[in-house]
Amino acid sequence: MDVSTTLARLGNAAASFLNGKHQLFIDGKFVDAKSGKTFDVFEPASGQMVAKVAAADAADVDLAVNAARRAFEEGPWSKMIPSQRAKLINKLADLVEDNAEELAQIESLDNGKPVTFARMIDIGGTVDMLRYMAGWCQRINGETITPSIPGDWHVYTLREPVGVVGQIVPWNFPLAMASWKIGPALAAGCTIVLKPAEQTPLSAIRLAQLIAEAEFPPGVINVLPGLGETAGAAIAAHPGVDKVAFTGSTEVGKLIVRAAAGNLKKVSLELGGKSPVVVFPDVDMQAAIPGAANAIFFNTGQVCTAGSRLYAHKKVFDQLVEGVVGVAKNIKVGVGLDPATQIGPLVSDEQLFRVTGYIAAGQKEGAKVAVGGKRIGEDGYFVQPTILTDTNPSMSVVREEIFGPVICAMPFDDNDLDRIAREANATSYGLAASIWTSNFGVAHKMAKRIKAGSVWINTHNMVDPAVPFGGYKQSGWGREMGHQAIELYTETKSVFASL
Ligand code: ADP
Repeated sequence: MDVSTTLARLGNAAASFLNGKHQLFIDGKFVDAKSGKTFDVFEPASGQMVAKVAAADAADVDLAVNAARRAFEEGPWSKMIPSQRAKLINKLADLVEDNAEELAQIESLDNGKPVTFARMIDIGGTVDMLRYMAGWCQRINGETITPSIPGDWHVYTLREPVGVVGQIVPWNFPLAMASWKIGPALAAGCTIVLKPAEQTPLSAIRLAQLIAEAEFPPGVINVLPGLGETAGAAIAAHPGVDKVAFTGSTEVGKLIVRAAAGNLKKVSLELGGKSPVVVFPDVDMQAAIPGAANAIFFNTGQVCTAGSRLYAHKKVFDQLVEGVVGVAKNIKVGVGLDPATQIGPLVSDEQLFRVTGYIAAGQKEGAKVAVGGKRIGEDGYFVQPTILTDTNPSMSVVREEIFGPVICAMPFDDNDLDRIAREANATSYGLAASIWTSNFGVAHKMAKRIKAGSVWINTHNMVDPAVPFGGYKQSGWGREMGHQAIELYTETKSVFASL
């Protein structure tokens, strides 16, 4: 397949954006990288190059951090009255909404995801997140406290922005992940250096244009496309950055923590997962079959909360696997910009290699392929939705995050919730889990026993700007969304006044 087929589906706005320059956004201006370097962006359905993007490195990070520092210390941002900050964030949300179709097409082209999902989930989610966080601007308050010290006192706390924050985001939901980061940071009054993933920098560059159009003061949000090991590493290590927020792999999360140690910048991390889907024998199969299928196949399985381990009671195991196999066979895999597509390609050749490598390793260790298992075609990064059976926890496919449309199905023959939970929890990750049963007593008892930041009952992959999200164990530090996200971007100051 040639990339021209995909490009022909772009509307005028997205096509004109693609043909424009793709630069860094520093201190309110679009500029080339100091080094003059660029990197290539590939379209995942064809594997062909569609854009050249300025590649930030340490020198550009330095300029951006300085701009963010000025905007924070001297500039209007941290001193702006909260309602004015909210107005600007809402203006950005309106602009994203006004340009939703174009942004959805850019996201689909860059990431490969179905344009219909991009519009609803990625772009719609971004608008919702920005509006929710705009509402926090006027709700961030300290408290008054009565101490037990003899005398007359006035004691209170102030909630102040952390300062300059570095934000490094991944390629699976590029714009939405950027909004999860910039929304609460802006609401708290921080200034930002944002780095999109090198696989998918385009929507963040378009967002930078909308930030300029919204008239945020220069330096408040700087957008620096660049490679992880150069631009990303420079942000994580920079002594002028007060906090780094990262979403990505657990492996890189550990590098961020090490790099952040230099100035002990605050760190929040949203990392990998290996989420179990636990199905009890009394389940409603009409809901569980599409539920388990969606849990793993949505976004081609490139979701940190993907339901990648299917644990079903042996009474329903065969029927469930058969049902999910049926769904997998009928899913329309195709080019993201085709409105009929339900699953796009994987994001990159690296990801294709990784996913097919895991499937092969699983088979070598004794897993059986119930459906799928192969790359589709020769062009682009397509892989079949795959179900592996005869898997067990000693296999790499069961232990490690594959980040593709591959589910490992395992039956259990047990009624003891502690033992079932122990199996579900037998992973170094703890991001999410879903429990499928008609018995709400069982569901809530299991919810308590699961060691994960999000537990879903008779659903999977549900998020909302008001509901905290993050990981136990090696799935991360801190919680995004809800009021917890504001806490990530504020410091508490205690003031004692002797009267
Ligand atoms: P994946 O393995 O799924 O591609 P990564 O964790 O590598 O995910 O990437 C997530 C984000 O982290 C991307 O923006 C990437 O550029 C960035 N990144 C990768 N390596 C580093 C690093 N050493 N330091 C800082 N950021 C990095």
